[in-house]
Amino acid sequence: MTIICPRCGSRDCIIPAELVFESAYMMYAACPSCMADPGVGKQTPFNRLFDSIDDIDGGTMRCHSCEKRHLDIVVAHALCILIREGLCDVQATLSHVGTPMITIGYQIPFSPRLGRDTLILIMNTVDKKTAEMIISEVPEVKGVIQRKGSLKQPIGILDTGSRPHTYNLLAGCDLRGDIVSSAFGELCIYKTQSDTHIEFSRGKSDKMQVLESLYYQRKLSGIVVDACCGAGTLGLVSVLAGAREVVLNDAFLPAVKNTILNIRANSSVLGLELEMHTDLSELPVVAGAPVLVATAHGSCDLSVYHGDLASLAAVVDQCDLCLIDAFIGVPTAGFVEAWKDTAGVVVTI
Ligand SMILES: [Zn+2]
Ligand SMILES: [Zn+2]
Repeated sequence: MTIICPRCGSRDCIIPAELVFESAYMMYAACPSCMADPGVGKQTPFNRLFDSIDDIDGGTMRCHSCEKRHLDIVVAHALCILIREGLCDVQATLSHVGTPMITIGYQIPFSPRLGRDTLILIMNTVDKKTAEMIISEVPEVKGVIQRKGSLKQPIGILDTGSRPHTYNLLAGCDLRGDIVSSAFGELCIYKTQSDTHIEFSRGKSDKMQVLESLYYQRKLSGIVVDACCGAGTLGLVSVLAGAREVVLNDAFLPAVKNTILNIRANSSVLGLELEMHTDLSELPVVAGAPVLVATAHGSCDLSVYHGDLASLAAVVDQCDLCLIDAFIGVPTAGFVEAWKDTAGVVVTI
């Protein structure tokens, strides 16, 4: 089954989850011919690593056998282009480039070696022309995103009254996945990273522990509503946990699109078959009244809505558990109030 990337239209961006699990452990590993770790510090100035910007190109320190390069060399190559284009000076360090994110994220106990199109860079100081140069000259880089606002400002919408805050995809494709581990199994959760909040996988997340504890309290077996579902993680893990019915909803259209993509990419792991009911291109970026976008059937009955969280309570007749995963600082009392008659239990995460 081939899934076309909703961002760039390529057939290679989205690997079905079961194939990701098979190959992930080798994806970033060194081969026996790979050079030793270059031992480069993130705070080392560029001019102490290389004598000149002419000393680094697409072949620099690339393994002749597996053709991968160490993450730090790839980032140094991007830094070299920033220096050449006058966006920073030769004393800038690797950390100046920004945040490197591997395209399939999981906890790797070693520094990754990268093959083609396996890195997305989230950069502070970059322009579109330079971003396009990085994409064409550094083979490992698949996408360049420009950060906007402060590091702490969450990406997406706080509520339906707020304007979306997103980063800028300057070049390439920003679609990447994270392997989510839970007591019920693994999923590969894909996201268009420039309009999805960044969460780093540090083993088992706090949210997963909340879900596992709900499971042991037998609160995850009935009808579960994942009311601000984002890319769909909590709702889809609830499917793995054996929920009878799952309702996923988000008011932000990019989140709904990622959720649909994740049902597709994880369909054999979840045992679900997706059916679309609404053309995604006809929906507004920020939802008003809830619209049923898709349903899925198989191991459980699942529905996906694009709607304001408080008005969704009127559409869902009843549920056993409503999960509200809002951004930190967003008052949730109004949502809890809207759901108190519909849901047996409301949990804010
Ligand atoms: Zn893509
Ligand atoms: Zn190698």
